[in-house]
Amino acid sequence: MKIAQVGGVEVSTDHWIGGRRVASSSRFELRSPIDGAHLAEVSAGSADDVAAAVDAARRAFPAWARLGPEGRAPLLRRFADGIRARAEELAAVETLDNGSLLLGNVHRMVPRAALNVEFFADWALKLEHTIDGAEVTNHVRYEPAGVAALVTPWNAPLMLTTWKVGPALAAGNTIVVKPPEWAPLTCSLLADIAHAAGIPAGVLNVVQGIGEDAGAALVAHRDVDRISFTGSPDTGRLIGVAGARNLVPVSVELGGKSPFIVCADADLDGAAQTVAMQYLNAGQVCLAGTRVLVEASVSEAFLAKVRQAAAAMVVGDPREPGTRVGPLITPEHFSRVQGFVERALADGAVALWGGRSHGAGAQYFEPTLLANVRADMEIAQHEVFGPVLTWQTFRDDEEVVTLANGTRYGLAAVIFTRDEPRARRLAAQVVAGTVWVNCFFVRDLAAPFGGARESGIGREGGTWSFDFFSDVKNVAIRKGSFGEEA
Ligand code: NAD
Repeated sequence: MKIAQVGGVEVSTDHWIGGRRVASSSRFELRSPIDGAHLAEVSAGSADDVAAAVDAARRAFPAWARLGPEGRAPLLRRFADGIRARAEELAAVETLDNGSLLLGNVHRMVPRAALNVEFFADWALKLEHTIDGAEVTNHVRYEPAGVAALVTPWNAPLMLTTWKVGPALAAGNTIVVKPPEWAPLTCSLLADIAHAAGIPAGVLNVVQGIGEDAGAALVAHRDVDRISFTGSPDTGRLIGVAGARNLVPVSVELGGKSPFIVCADADLDGAAQTVAMQYLNAGQVCLAGTRVLVEASVSEAFLAKVRQAAAAMVVGDPREPGTRVGPLITPEHFSRVQGFVERALADGAVALWGGRSHGAGAQYFEPTLLANVRADMEIAQHEVFGPVLTWQTFRDDEEVVTLANGTRYGLAAVIFTRDEPRARRLAAQVVAGTVWVNCFFVRDLAAPFGGARESGIGREGGTWSFDFFSDVKNVAIRKGSFGEEA
């Protein structure tokens, strides 16, 4: 078994299959986006490794399913406690691995990861219910579906993986996780924590590896009963095809190009602070409101406030407490972001600030605001996944709704206004899975989450997660057939 020392933390770089570490002969190199330093050589899973993991999950399934929600909940709560107990290690490894802000990981992501497990363990206890019919009583049961394949992206791996692991396990499934190859390490720690918490061997399996190899083999495997994927729309399409081939339900949470609408009557100071937040984690956030749409009458005044708020977004090493904008994940992704900006500028956009690399290191890009942007430009249509915002103005609600809905995405929308009826009207008209009014990034685990259009298919969160990860069964019992009063 290979162990890497990452920020003083021992992390296995191998798979976790059937309760033991398994190595692949082929490995891939992992470098930190912070400074390009070598972090580890990680096992690159093959179709055989995937088959072994699915087999282990299949064998562990009957006993895990039989435990029922009551039997699983104490184990899952211990799992959540284990995540909390290793918060600092998890945060340190995640930051080195994907360049996300250390303080954000300590205070938000790791606590959220623990809550993802605990919340769904508790929610599973209250799912069963009855529907009283004229002739029968319908007993609605949430049966475990079987083996679930979970595939996640690099921008928040711990948080996004537990968002699937929690409900999948609470629903009684066994799972095979394929972590992102650009940030796979906290998922490996997750396996250790689950094991230490007493989650039985084979219930949670991790196969490391490259998406096109290990990921593709996993979603194509015939003995998988559910596929839950978070990542890019291009991969999402391949996942959909794989699910269709085996007639397996698929949930895909994909990219975004979300509008950030600021009405003239809004709290402009609060809105400006929130616009600047879109640069956090170098804009590598699916939900980011990257298209700022401002009511023309306040455009100038609001721009001055945003300029001030953006100036406070310190670029640098994400381990430093004062940093707000860290590195982009890889050199390739850096070039991709730079390419988007260069093409936008060549197409007539104007950089009000930023627009180029930042001196903090090879993969750092300046927080950027592009004006003179037309709705049909590439920069207004495609997800950049970097610290790049666009600025457009509108004159009335009709125009802003047209602009807001003018992309192929529909993940989220942000609206700032003090006019409640207007907020409700706009919220009803924008195409988005989540609309935040006078706030941003608040995600209640009981609420539905997902995207419209190319931002996704399906909803997770609360009971929606269990609708996906369960075989919902109705047991209709004729009234009076057991001698009780009809
Ligand atoms: P990606 O699609 O390249 O990769 C996501 C995962 O899929 C990785 O684990 C990868 O190894 C795997 N994968 C790649 N090819 C595969 C294949 N052929 N078969 C099976 N698995 C495969 O996405 P990414 O670059 O890691 O993540 C960035 C994207 O994720 C952005 O578009 C972002 O908006 C999106 N995202 C969405 C949400 C959401 O909740 N909607 C959250 C975070 C990120």
